[in-house]
Amino acid sequence: MTDSSATPAKISIDNVTKVFGDERSERHTVALEDVSLHVADGEFVTLVGPSGCGKSTLLELIGGLSTPTSGTLTLDGEPITGPGLDRGIVFQQYALLPWRTAQANVELGLEIAGGLGRRERAARAREVLDLVGLDSFRDRYPHELSGGMRQRVAIARSLAYEPKVLLMDEPYAALDAQTRELLQVELLSIWERTGATVVFITHGIEEAVYLGQRVAVMTARPGRIKTVIPIELDDRHGDGDIRSTPQFTHYRHQLWELLHHEITRAARLEAEPTRPEEAVHVG
Ligand code: ADP
Repeated sequence: MTDSSATPAKISIDNVTKVFGDERSERHTVALEDVSLHVADGEFVTLVGPSGCGKSTLLELIGGLSTPTSGTLTLDGEPITGPGLDRGIVFQQYALLPWRTAQANVELGLEIAGGLGRRERAARAREVLDLVGLDSFRDRYPHELSGGMRQRVAIARSLAYEPKVLLMDEPYAALDAQTRELLQVELLSIWERTGATVVFITHGIEEAVYLGQRVAVMTARPGRIKTVIPIELDDRHGDGDIRSTPQFTHYRHQLWELLHHEITRAARLEAEPTRPEEAVHVG
């Protein structure tokens, strides 16, 4: 760890490599190679990179859903050995139970977490549904809700048990632009209110700049952290159109250049006839 401060990072990823398949065989994939990244307590980090560069793999490792081939991952200085309620994960798909109402879907997380009685669970679920602007929709079933609303329920569910860390894998990718922007604003305000640490994967350069205090850019095959860009915007939460400011445009352009280079490289790698199982899809 390179930080000289006395406080350890909330999430420390040190020299992590993840290989899928048998390393001795031709048919293996080095999804991540020597990845190091430290995320401070309460920080919002966005992660961008070409498709197949290992973003989801990295998030799954932080979530404790898989283990690294080598290297270490720690949360609050303790090794990550499996999933835990200290980390809420929101995927691109909402994964709501269709036979449960919005409220009951949110309560599900609390039921799994345990510790609260039925009435307390119901009250807590109402609180977080209110937080994501869905209080009056709590009795609706998923099929009665729009895509944006379903994603809000999924976010509410992961917020309900107050995870200290939110891991989000392209949660807004399937939404229309307007809903996405609304949910971005909402997420920032939730983040500010809860003080959670957020790692957010996105394909969107604007989304990465708008949400992230730092943007980590990954390289194509093998996935590495190419660079981490601190984003300093004067008025991220103000009323003005932040996306039109020269600062924002500067970061967007900088990221576009970095990503364009990586995506072109990924396309070249994909064109290589060797190891088709490692093909990188640009998307
Ligand atoms: P990204 O999220 O950046 O699109 P992924 O983390 O999903 O990338 O995948 C990184 C690489 O690892 C890809 O080449 C993918 O095919 C491979 N991969 C991911 N999960 C598995 C798995 N369970 N088994 C084998 N290969 C995998």
